[in-house]
Amino acid sequence: MTEQPVIVLASRNAKKAAEIEVLLQEVGVSVRPVSEFPSATEVEEDGDSFQANAEKKASQVARQTGHWAIGEDSGLSVDALKGAPGIYSARYSGEGATDASNNEHLQQQLKDVPDSKRGAHYTCHVALADPTGAVRLHVERYCNGLIIREARGTNGFGYDPYFLIREYGKTFGELSPIVKKCISHRARAFHEFVPGLLPLLDEIRASK
Ligand code: IMP
Repeated sequence: MTEQPVIVLASRNAKKAAEIEVLLQEVGVSVRPVSEFPSATEVEEDGDSFQANAEKKASQVARQTGHWAIGEDSGLSVDALKGAPGIYSARYSGEGATDASNNEHLQQQLKDVPDSKRGAHYTCHVALADPTGAVRLHVERYCNGLIIREARGTNGFGYDPYFLIREYGKTFGELSPIVKKCISHRARAFHEFVPGLLPLLDEIRASK
């Protein structure tokens, strides 16, 4: 059997990484977490856009490991907060932020915002870099919803229990992971990313 091409996933967020592994399951690549590579150092997310951060993660990890790498940057943008927390979603409540403290901070910021003005969207930017660090492919996609006041459901991660999908009347916390796998920002981005990845597989396989 031909060996599967190896791609390193430049994310240390276990729940996000698990979603990405599922989305790449049928592609026939071996997705290796960056945590398996001691040569890879923490990537400082100091870009001014999802694209800049995703590309930086992919390029740095590819150069440090000598493998092709996928960088993914994602986050929540709330209309009433002029797009915040955006690229700062993971650390919205400051140093030592957790999903719980971020959600608490978000609810605080939105406490005077009426139900009719709670529109929001998730963004997912995916970038693929070759071992020289050159970005060879990138895609950005979105998922619309609104932020409710009380958490509902325990599926997903991050802001999911508060992120309601209008068409279903349910949050990503309540919806099955099977549904999230079809309609999320990450799902939409990877559905677009995979057709661009397939023609590169021979080159990726040959690079090690
Ligand atoms: P990153 O790891 O720097 O890309 O940060 C992503 C952050 O955005 C996460 O820590 C969450 O706060 C938020 N986020 C991104 N994608 C999702 C999702 O699918 N559900 C819930 N929160 C998400």
